[in-house]
Amino acid sequence: MALFPCEIHLSRYQGPSSAAYPALLVNGTSSRKHLRVCEPCLIAKVDETPVPLQQIMDDGSNMEQFSGGQGCASGCKDPTFAAFFLAAYKRGAEGETYYASVCERCSLLLAEHWGLEL
Ligand SMILES: [Zn+2]
Ligand SMILES: [Zn+2]
Repeated sequence: MALFPCEIHLSRYQGPSSAAYPALLVNGTSSRKHLRVCEPCLIAKVDETPVPLQQIMDDGSNMEQFSGGQGCASGCKDPTFAAFFLAAYKRGAEGETYYASVCERCSLLLAEHWGLEL
């Protein structure tokens, strides 16, 4: 049994834990969270994220193409308002990092989905 209950389905579970570290950066301030979860919940939660996420390569080599000037990741016409980062650590795997640059409306969707405070 994992030492802590999964913070998504709220009970203890068999097997090693996975973790997610979502963060939303707005105007130089950030809202972060650490979720200790089971692997199925982590995978479902990442899949259900309401905005398309781009995976960042380990060495950050594809980071440049994300920076600035391309608007909201959801394809909205609204100006970019916040940057969302997600580090996901699945059982036995290297951490994966995801990124999306979003408008204000989409940042609210992300905050709600991941339980972040804006
Ligand atoms: Zn769970
Ligand atoms: Zn948007």
